[in-house]
Amino acid sequence: LQNAPREVRELAQTFNRMLSRLADAWEQQRQVVSNISHELRTPLTIVLGYLQSLLRRSANLSDYQREALTTATTEAEQATRLLQDLLDLARADSGYMHFHRESVVLMDLVTEVAAMAEQFSDRAIQVSTSETLIAPETLKVSADRHALKRGLVNLIDNAVKYSAADQPVVLSLQFTETQAMIQVGDRGVGISLADQSRIFDRFYRVDEARSRATGGHGLGLAIAKTLIEGMEGSITVRSRLGEGSTFTITLPREVTI
Ligand code: ADP
Repeated sequence: LQNAPREVRELAQTFNRMLSRLADAWEQQRQVVSNISHELRTPLTIVLGYLQSLLRRSANLSDYQREALTTATTEAEQATRLLQDLLDLARADSGYMHFHRESVVLMDLVTEVAAMAEQFSDRAIQVSTSETLIAPETLKVSADRHALKRGLVNLIDNAVKYSAADQPVVLSLQFTETQAMIQVGDRGVGISLADQSRIFDRFYRVDEARSRATGGHGLGLAIAKTLIEGMEGSITVRSRLGEGSTFTITLPREVTI
C-alpha cells in the first residue's frame, strides 16, 4: 500500500479509522450489556428466592394471591434466563469462551438429553440412529459436553414449543466419514424460507406473540449457534411452513485410531 497513490492510501487510512471506531463502539456496547446483566442478576435472584419461598410456605393463600405469586415467579424466572443468555453471548463476543473439550459418545449424550427433555416437557422425545450406524458407541466428537447439551436442549425446547403436544420430537444421529450429525426434527408449525435466514439472529422471533407466550426471548438459536460454531461445528435448518422443521448440528467426527 505504501507505493499506492496518495488518494488510495488516504482512503485506506479512513477505512481503518472507521473500522477501529466501529470495533470500539461494539466493545462498549458489549460491556454495557454485560455490566447491566451482572447488576440485575443479584437483585433478581433475591426477588426470585423470596417469591419461591413465599409460594412454598404459605398454605392459606387466596386464589388471587397464589396466582399473583405464580405469575411473578414465572416472569422472574424468565428474566433470570434472559440475563444469563445475555451474559453468555457477551462472553462469547469478547472471545473469552472456554470450552472444556473431551471425547463425547454422541449416543450417550443424546439419550441422556432426550430422557431429561421428556421429563421437563412431558412430551415423547424419540431417539433414532441411521441404519448404517452399526456400533453407535464409536460415533464420537471432541466437544464441551455442557455446551453441546445446552445447544441441543435449545433445539429440543423449540421443537416442543412450536409443535402440537401429540406430535413426536425425534432426535436422530447421522454420520459421514468425517462428520457427526445430531438432528432434531418436529412436525410443527414450520418456518418460511425468508425466516429461516433470520432465526439465528439475536432477538429475532417469527411470531412475537407466540414466542412471548411460550417464554422465548429470541436468543435460544443465537446461543446454540454460537456454542456449536465455537467448537468448529455448524447448525443448519430445513423446514416447510405447516409441515415441520429439522435442525442439524454437525461436528467434526473424532478420529479413532
Ligand atoms: P425463541 O426463544 O423465540 O424460541 P429462538 O432463538 O430459539 O427464540 O428461535 C427464534 C425463532 O425461530 C422463534 O421465535 C421461532 O419463531 C422460530 N423457531 C425456532 N425453532 C423453531 C421450530 N422448531 N419450529 C418453528 N419455528 C421455530
